[in-house]
Amino acid sequence: MPLHSAFYDTRARAGAVVHLHSCHAVALSVLPDAVAEDFLPPITPYAFMQLGRVRLLPYFRPGDPAIGDAVRGLAGKRSAVMLANHGPVVAGRDVEAACNAIEELEATARLALLLRGQTPNMLTPAQVDELVKIHDIAWGDE
Ligand SMILES: [Zn+2]
Repeated sequence: MPLHSAFYDTRARAGAVVHLHSCHAVALSVLPDAVAEDFLPPITPYAFMQLGRVRLLPYFRPGDPAIGDAVRGLAGKRSAVMLANHGPVVAGRDVEAACNAIEELEATARLALLLRGQTPNMLTPAQVDELVKIHDIAWGDE
């Protein structure tokens, strides 16, 4: 509850918040080289278009009020966070949008795991910048 409330409190346009304990996202979150600022690597445009940048937060005991504080600390700059060793949380304008976005997060985490140990051609920073501009993606830098 503190987690969901924190999203509603800091994202005025959030009409729904969804949370999963999804397999691939959790697997990616516990790897030692997981990137906190950009949890999802730039594999496809769709994750960026639906989620923006996804922040990996550390592990919190489920229900710990500190989870809400951590989300509030992002000051509404992220629509999606990944709780390490737990699961993703995504806010959207309605339930359908939030569900579609969290499915994209899980699919992208699966792709990232499939590609581990290889040298895939990721989207370039210029390609990501183009998506951010054209789709008016919130791009928090905290
Ligand atoms: Zn949970």
